[in-house]
Amino acid sequence: MSEAAAKEQGQCLCGAVRFEASIGAREVGACHCSICRRWSGGVFLAVECESVSVENEQNLGVYSSSEWGERCFCKACGSTVMWRSKDGAHHAVSVQSFNDPSSFSFASQIFIDEKPTNYSFAQATKTMTGPEFIAMITSAEQHS
Ligand SMILES: [Zn+2]
Ligand SMILES: [Zn+2]
Repeated sequence: MSEAAAKEQGQCLCGAVRFEASIGAREVGACHCSICRRWSGGVFLAVECESVSVENEQNLGVYSSSEWGERCFCKACGSTVMWRSKDGAHHAVSVQSFNDPSSFSFASQIFIDEKPTNYSFAQATKTMTGPEFIAMITSAEQHS
């Protein structure tokens, strides 16, 4: 592919964290796992980005949630910003932090087996259980 990835800007609620992300597919996926739900206060709706460059790195809190992943948030306002893998291969950025969330199509839901029974999204999407998703991403490591 010779096309440069599209760049999109985003920020947290208060603006202390601002970033520019290189976008691949313009798709958003929902993660229903218990960790994303506790962390985000809802369902984590994320865009998988090729890279993310944070303008004010010192304002970004980083919580190590597993051996291979970490949760990034704004130290000032607490906004959920992104999940990223420690090896730098994956950046799942909150779709709500982008200026135009509507520009991403809702394409998939993962950890559908951990979704509480008290809500459901009406749109038809591809769905994967946690084990199916983990098998796709890696054969040995845990998602958390
Ligand atoms: Zn903030
Ligand atoms: Zn999750």
